[in-house]
Amino acid sequence: MKISQLKLEELRDMFIYVSKKMIESKSLLTQADKAVGDGDHGVNMARGFETVRQKLEGHSFTTIKELVNTIGTTLMVSVGGASGAIFGTFFTGAAKDLKEEQHNFNMNMFSQMLFNGLKAVKQRGKANPGDKTMVDALEPAALKAKEIISFPLSKALIDVTEEARKGVEKTKNMIAKVGKAKSLGKRTIGYPDPGAISTHLILKYMMEFITRKIPN
Ligand code: ADP
Ligand code: MG
Repeated sequence: MKISQLKLEELRDMFIYVSKKMIESKSLLTQADKAVGDGDHGVNMARGFETVRQKLEGHSFTTIKELVNTIGTTLMVSVGGASGAIFGTFFTGAAKDLKEEQHNFNMNMFSQMLFNGLKAVKQRGKANPGDKTMVDALEPAALKAKEIISFPLSKALIDVTEEARKGVEKTKNMIAKVGKAKSLGKRTIGYPDPGAISTHLILKYMMEFITRKIPN
Protein backbone atom coordinates (compact mmCIF):
# COMPACT_ATOMS: atom_id res chain seq x y z
CA MET A 1 0.00 0.00 0.00
CA LYS A 2 1.08 3.52 -0.67
CA ILE A 3 -0.30 7.01 -0.23
CA SER A 4 0.21 9.54 -3.01
CA GLN A 5 -1.70 12.47 -1.63
CA LEU A 6 -3.38 13.93 1.42
CA LYS A 7 -6.50 16.06 1.52
CA LEU A 8 -6.58 19.37 3.38
CA GLU A 9 -8.15 17.84 6.51
CA GLU A 10 -5.57 15.04 6.57
CA LEU A 11 -2.74 17.53 6.15
CA ARG A 12 -4.12 19.52 9.08
CA ASP A 13 -4.21 16.33 11.17
CA MET A 14 -0.64 15.59 10.08
CA PHE A 15 0.58 18.93 11.41
CA ILE A 16 -1.38 18.48 14.64
CA TYR A 17 0.49 15.18 15.04
CA VAL A 18 3.82 16.85 14.16
CA SER A 19 3.09 19.60 16.72
CA LYS A 20 2.39 17.10 19.51
CA LYS A 21 5.57 15.18 18.72
CA MET A 22 7.68 18.36 18.58
CA ILE A 23 6.34 19.29 22.04
CA GLU A 24 7.39 15.82 23.26
CA SER A 25 10.86 16.42 21.79
CA LYS A 26 11.46 19.45 24.02
CA SER A 27 14.13 17.97 26.31
CA LEU A 28 16.06 16.39 23.43
CA LEU A 29 16.22 19.79 21.69
CA THR A 30 17.10 21.55 24.93
CA GLN A 31 20.05 19.20 25.45
CA ALA A 32 21.23 19.79 21.88
CA ASP A 33 21.11 23.58 22.29
CA LYS A 34 22.86 23.41 25.67
CA ALA A 35 25.88 21.91 23.91
CA VAL A 36 26.23 24.56 21.21
CA GLY A 37 24.01 27.49 22.18
CA ASP A 38 21.98 28.93 25.04
CA GLY A 39 19.75 25.92 25.68
CA ASP A 40 16.42 27.47 24.73
CA HIS A 41 15.69 25.67 21.46
CA GLY A 42 13.54 22.99 23.11
CA VAL A 43 11.46 25.58 24.96
CA ASN A 44 11.17 27.71 21.82
CA MET A 45 9.98 24.89 19.58
CA ALA A 46 7.65 23.44 22.22
CA ARG A 47 6.04 26.83 22.80
CA GLY A 48 5.68 27.45 19.07
CA PHE A 49 4.19 24.07 18.26
CA GLU A 50 1.85 24.19 21.25
CA THR A 51 0.41 27.41 19.79
CA VAL A 52 0.30 25.82 16.31
CA ARG A 53 -1.54 22.80 17.75
CA GLN A 54 -4.15 25.03 19.36
CA LYS A 55 -4.60 27.10 16.19
CA LEU A 56 -5.00 24.01 14.00
CA GLU A 57 -7.33 22.14 16.34
CA GLY A 58 -9.64 25.09 16.72
CA HIS A 59 -9.91 26.08 13.07
CA SER A 60 -11.23 24.66 9.86
CA PHE A 61 -9.21 25.77 6.85
CA THR A 62 -10.42 26.39 3.32
CA THR A 63 -7.11 25.99 1.50
CA ILE A 64 -3.72 24.31 2.01
CA LYS A 65 -2.12 27.68 1.41
CA GLU A 66 -4.05 29.12 4.36
CA LEU A 67 -3.12 26.16 6.58
CA VAL A 68 0.62 26.30 5.82
CA ASN A 69 0.69 30.08 6.07
CA THR A 70 -1.01 29.92 9.47
CA ILE A 71 1.67 27.52 10.75
CA GLY A 72 4.37 29.97 9.63
CA THR A 73 2.86 33.14 11.05
CA THR A 74 2.00 31.35 14.31
CA LEU A 75 5.60 30.19 14.76
CA MET A 76 6.85 33.69 14.00
CA VAL A 77 4.75 35.39 16.64
CA SER A 78 4.87 32.73 19.36
CA VAL A 79 8.54 31.70 19.32
CA GLY A 80 11.31 33.85 20.68
CA GLY A 81 14.84 33.40 19.39
CA ALA A 82 16.19 32.93 15.92
CA SER A 83 14.19 29.77 15.38
CA GLY A 84 10.83 31.58 15.45
CA ALA A 85 11.85 33.73 12.52
CA ILE A 86 13.64 30.89 10.72
CA PHE A 87 11.04 28.13 11.03
CA GLY A 88 8.22 30.64 10.62
CA THR A 89 9.84 31.91 7.43
CA PHE A 90 10.19 28.35 6.21
CA PHE A 91 6.42 27.76 6.39
CA THR A 92 5.33 31.16 5.05
CA GLY A 93 7.90 30.75 2.25
CA ALA A 94 6.56 27.25 1.53
CA ALA A 95 3.00 28.64 1.31
CA LYS A 96 3.82 31.61 -0.88
CA ASP A 97 3.49 30.08 -4.35
CA LEU A 98 0.66 27.69 -3.51
CA LYS A 99 -2.53 28.35 -5.43
CA GLU A 100 -5.86 28.69 -3.66
CA GLU A 101 -7.27 25.89 -5.83
CA GLN A 102 -4.56 23.35 -4.89
CA HIS A 103 -6.42 21.06 -2.50
CA ASN A 104 -4.23 17.95 -2.51
CA PHE A 105 -0.87 17.62 -0.83
CA ASN A 106 1.24 15.44 -3.15
CA MET A 107 4.93 15.09 -4.12
CA ASN A 108 4.83 17.99 -6.57
CA MET A 109 3.49 20.27 -3.89
CA PHE A 110 5.81 18.92 -1.19
CA SER A 111 8.90 19.39 -3.36
CA GLN A 112 7.83 22.90 -4.33
CA MET A 113 7.19 23.78 -0.69
CA LEU A 114 10.58 22.50 0.47
CA PHE A 115 12.35 24.53 -2.22
CA ASN A 116 10.44 27.75 -1.67
CA GLY A 117 10.74 27.38 2.11
CA LEU A 118 14.50 26.81 1.80
CA LYS A 119 14.85 29.83 -0.48
CA ALA A 120 12.98 32.06 1.98
CA VAL A 121 15.07 30.83 4.93
CA LYS A 122 18.31 31.50 3.05
CA GLN A 123 17.15 34.99 2.09
CA ARG A 124 16.10 35.80 5.62
CA GLY A 125 18.89 34.16 7.63
CA LYS A 126 21.74 34.46 5.14
CA ALA A 127 23.15 31.09 6.19
CA ASN A 128 24.99 29.02 3.60
CA PRO A 129 25.27 25.24 3.54
CA GLY A 130 28.12 24.26 5.86
CA ASP A 131 27.45 27.06 8.38
CA LYS A 132 25.96 24.51 10.83
CA THR A 133 22.28 25.51 10.77
CA MET A 134 18.93 23.96 9.88
CA VAL A 135 19.81 24.70 6.23
CA ASP A 136 22.23 21.74 6.41
CA ALA A 137 19.30 19.37 6.98
CA LEU A 138 16.72 21.21 4.86
CA GLU A 139 18.73 21.63 1.66
CA PRO A 140 19.60 17.93 1.19
CA ALA A 141 15.97 17.06 1.99
CA ALA A 142 14.69 19.51 -0.66
CA LEU A 143 17.16 18.18 -3.24
CA LYS A 144 16.12 14.59 -2.52
CA ALA A 145 12.41 15.42 -2.86
CA LYS A 146 13.03 16.92 -6.29
CA GLU A 147 15.03 13.87 -7.36
CA ILE A 148 12.28 11.42 -6.36
CA ILE A 149 9.30 13.60 -7.27
CA SER A 150 7.70 10.67 -9.15
CA PHE A 151 7.62 8.47 -6.01
CA PRO A 152 4.42 8.10 -3.99
CA LEU A 153 4.39 10.57 -1.08
CA SER A 154 4.53 7.82 1.57
CA LYS A 155 7.67 6.27 0.07
CA ALA A 156 9.37 9.57 -0.75
CA LEU A 157 8.96 10.86 2.80
CA ILE A 158 11.09 7.95 4.07
CA ASP A 159 13.97 8.89 1.75
CA VAL A 160 13.62 12.64 2.29
CA THR A 161 13.69 12.12 6.07
CA GLU A 162 16.79 9.93 5.79
CA GLU A 163 18.52 12.66 3.80
CA ALA A 164 17.75 15.21 6.51
CA ARG A 165 19.08 12.78 9.15
CA LYS A 166 22.34 12.47 7.23
CA GLY A 167 22.44 16.27 7.07
CA VAL A 168 22.17 16.43 10.87
CA GLU A 169 25.07 13.96 11.18
CA LYS A 170 27.21 16.16 8.93
CA THR A 171 26.61 19.23 11.10
CA LYS A 172 28.62 17.49 13.84
CA ASN A 173 31.82 18.15 11.89
CA MET A 174 30.96 21.77 11.13
CA ILE A 175 32.04 24.93 12.93
CA ALA A 176 29.07 27.23 13.60
CA LYS A 177 29.27 30.39 11.47
CA VAL A 178 25.93 32.06 12.29
CA GLY A 179 23.61 32.50 15.24
CA LYS A 180 24.34 32.07 18.95
CA ALA A 181 26.59 29.05 18.37
CA LYS A 182 28.98 31.20 16.33
CA SER A 183 30.70 32.60 19.43
CA LEU A 184 31.65 29.05 20.50
CA GLY A 185 33.50 28.53 17.21
CA LYS A 186 35.53 25.32 17.17
CA ARG A 187 33.98 24.17 20.43
CA THR A 188 30.82 23.33 18.46
CA ILE A 189 32.66 20.51 16.65
CA GLY A 190 31.34 17.12 17.66
CA TYR A 191 27.81 18.34 18.35
CA PRO A 192 24.87 18.43 15.91
CA ASP A 193 23.01 21.67 15.19
CA PRO A 194 19.73 21.91 17.17
CA GLY A 195 17.75 23.53 14.34
CA ALA A 196 18.93 20.81 11.95
CA ILE A 197 17.66 18.22 14.45
CA SER A 198 14.26 19.99 14.52
CA THR A 199 14.12 19.99 10.72
CA HIS A 200 14.80 16.25 10.65
CA LEU A 201 12.22 15.62 13.36
CA ILE A 202 9.46 17.59 11.60
CA LEU A 203 10.01 15.47 8.47
CA LYS A 204 10.27 12.27 10.53
CA TYR A 205 6.96 12.95 12.28
CA MET A 206 5.31 13.72 8.92
CA MET A 207 6.59 10.37 7.71
CA GLU A 208 5.36 8.60 10.85
CA PHE A 209 1.89 10.07 10.45
CA ILE A 210 1.56 8.98 6.85
CA THR A 211 3.05 5.51 7.48
CA ARG A 212 0.48 4.90 10.21
CA LYS A 213 -2.32 5.61 7.75
CA ILE A 214 -1.23 2.70 5.56
CA PRO A 215 -3.10 -0.49 6.52
CA ASN A 216 -0.87 -3.55 7.01
P1 ADP B 1 18.54 31.18 19.38
O1 ADP B 1 19.67 30.88 18.44
O2 ADP B 1 18.06 32.59 19.23
O3 ADP B 1 18.84 30.78 20.78
P2 ADP B 1 17.10 28.73 18.98
O4 ADP B 1 18.04 28.14 19.95
O5 ADP B 1 15.66 28.42 19.20
O6 ADP B 1 17.29 30.29 18.86
O7 ADP B 1 17.43 28.19 17.52
C1 ADP B 1 18.74 27.97 17.10
C2 ADP B 1 18.72 27.32 15.73
O8 ADP B 1 18.23 28.22 14.76
C3 ADP B 1 20.10 26.93 15.26
O9 ADP B 1 20.44 25.63 15.69
C4 ADP B 1 20.01 27.03 13.75
O10 ADP B 1 19.67 25.80 13.15
C5 ADP B 1 18.86 27.99 13.52
N1 ADP B 1 19.39 29.28 13.05
C6 ADP B 1 19.86 30.31 13.77
N2 ADP B 1 20.23 31.34 12.97
C7 ADP B 1 19.99 30.91 11.70
C8 ADP B 1 20.15 31.49 10.39
N3 ADP B 1 20.64 32.73 10.24
N4 ADP B 1 19.79 30.77 9.30
C9 ADP B 1 19.29 29.51 9.45
N5 ADP B 1 19.10 28.92 10.64
C10 ADP B 1 19.45 29.60 11.74
MG1 MG C 1 19.13 28.86 21.48
